[in-house]
Amino acid sequence: VPALSIRDLRKTYDNKVEALKGVSLDVAEGDFFALLGPNGAGKSTLIGIVSSLVNLTSGSVQVHGIDLRRDRSAAMRMIGLVPQEINFNTFEQPLDILVNYAGFYGVSRDEAIVRAEEELKRAQLWDKARMMSRTLSGGMKRRLMIARAMMTRPRLLILDEPTAGVDIEIRRGMWQTLREINAAGTTIILTTHYLEEAEYLCRNLAIIDRGTIVAQGPMRQLLARL
Ligand code: ADP
Ligand code: ADP
Repeated sequence: VPALSIRDLRKTYDNKVEALKGVSLDVAEGDFFALLGPNGAGKSTLIGIVSSLVNLTSGSVQVHGIDLRRDRSAAMRMIGLVPQEINFNTFEQPLDILVNYAGFYGVSRDEAIVRAEEELKRAQLWDKARMMSRTLSGGMKRRLMIARAMMTRPRLLILDEPTAGVDIEIRRGMWQTLREINAAGTTIILTTHYLEEAEYLCRNLAIIDRGTIVAQGPMRQLLARL
């Protein structure tokens, strides 16, 4: 069973913009998968639908075999989402941000504290656990977003343009954290418009343009064709 299976997905917004025009793709369990495409291609729309923030117009989405429209909450429990914008309370400490987030999803406080230590270490933030998160650098804030998404132990981690507009040093730090998460068994899907990011991180990718998948397959195979 693929981690994510999408069939003939269409999305037409209220203003008649056809953001997705029949997208099909499969992401295998354990994969590191990039959805690559220019601005306006439909990447955020696709991620939004998979993470239940946007309603689909037609087609099907299955997460580990569970149909999103049939059992949305079960599908959502398997997904961790890292949004584009930093959206935690920067007047809280990283440890509290993670523990409270897990608590919101029903994780016990003791378990949340154990997980928070693990995730902060993996994100190279353990020594910052009790700082005011407002004082963290841009890269640290972004790694904290990744750590937070991992607190619910998702099988599938989805990131929407995680490194858009950040410099190369920050990107490298995030890439390292993501590689460790993937190596530990979590499937990762990210959207990006940086080819070099997809190339460095991902085994498989799909290229999307104007709502249509124009190429899909193993990174190496597609690179040879570019
Ligand atoms: P990407 O993430 O690849 O930049 P988006 O999914 O954000 O692409 O956008 C795809 C198309 O859908 C664009 O033409 C965009 O303007 C349009 N779009 C995105 N969100 C909305 C919305 N909420 N309402 C109307 N049109 C939208
Ligand atoms: P992205 O960063 O994915 O390219 P944008 O910056 O184009 O997305 O859009 C930011 C937000 O505005 C998103 O939530 C998107 O859904 C929404 N949006 C984008 N295009 C439109 C549109 N034409 N009409 C309404 N909302 C839009």
